[in-house]
Amino acid sequence: MDKETIKRELHTIFGDCEGNIIAAETAVCPEMAGLQMFEEPIVGFGAADDTLFVRYKEEGVIGPWHMTPCQWLPEAVTVISLFFPFTEKVRKDNRKSCDGPAPAWLHGRIEGQEYIAAYMKELSLWFTAQGVKNCVPAADDRFQKVMSGKGMAAYPDLDEHIFGSNWSERHAAYVCGLGTFGLSKGIITRKGMAGRFGSIIIDAALEPDERPYKGIYDYCTKCGACVRRCPVDAISLDKGKDHNICGEWLNKTREIYAPRYGCGLCQTKVPCEERIPEKRQV
Ligand code: SF4
Ligand code: SF4
Repeated sequence: MDKETIKRELHTIFGDCEGNIIAAETAVCPEMAGLQMFEEPIVGFGAADDTLFVRYKEEGVIGPWHMTPCQWLPEAVTVISLFFPFTEKVRKDNRKSCDGPAPAWLHGRIEGQEYIAAYMKELSLWFTAQGVKNCVPAADDRFQKVMSGKGMAAYPDLDEHIFGSNWSERHAAYVCGLGTFGLSKGIITRKGMAGRFGSIIIDAALEPDERPYKGIYDYCTKCGACVRRCPVDAISLDKGKDHNICGEWLNKTREIYAPRYGCGLCQTKVPCEERIPEKRQV
């Protein structure tokens, strides 16, 4: 097993896996029929025993509930992180919005996540067929989310400001060299921040990718554009993002746009939407 073989398979699955195009029957409006949500993913490889995964367990980083790659898969050797950038159509639609998600973004958030789940399942099956043990944490029965401190069975009394899960796609992406965090807490990759992540842990040894950064916010210029884009003032230059305010707004969008929800205004019409902002290019 080598990286080139895996990259070829990622390309094949991207071509074969259904669900990246919105069907007329599920489109929120006729213009959305035929919408392609994602461009081909970019990939990063990290070591399962990278010490950052242990640091993520510290209070104030993520927390002790965050599971290391070896907790997900005892034979873990490599973590593979994928970033699926939204297509220009999805990004452009959301750029025009200023008080709620555009229809294309709603599709990208919901049907887009379903597509990534299907993609990761295909990838998992392919690895298994190659004799490679693997685990997709987000699809695993042990995967748990925590919202306002609630939802983690073994940690019933978490602080109400805690949001996340026991496997963070964004933190895995950071380890795998895909990018750094931005003020709005998304990951800024070389294809920008507007998109979704997936990851898989495998027992095959592959050279980890070099991380072309040192600090967790290296790619963020602190330009404040995401602060100005947020419709509910959930982001500030001095305090970063308030997940509670953002979460409350997302809950409201569930009522307005049911069965979909989303926002992502802080990821569009900003300098880090589709690239690493200028002056910080590496
Ligand atoms: S919009 Fe500016 S401040 Fe916000 S995450 Fe992007 S680069 Fe950082
Ligand atoms: S921080 Fe939350 S509420 Fe604000 S723009 Fe981003 S996704 Fe929307």
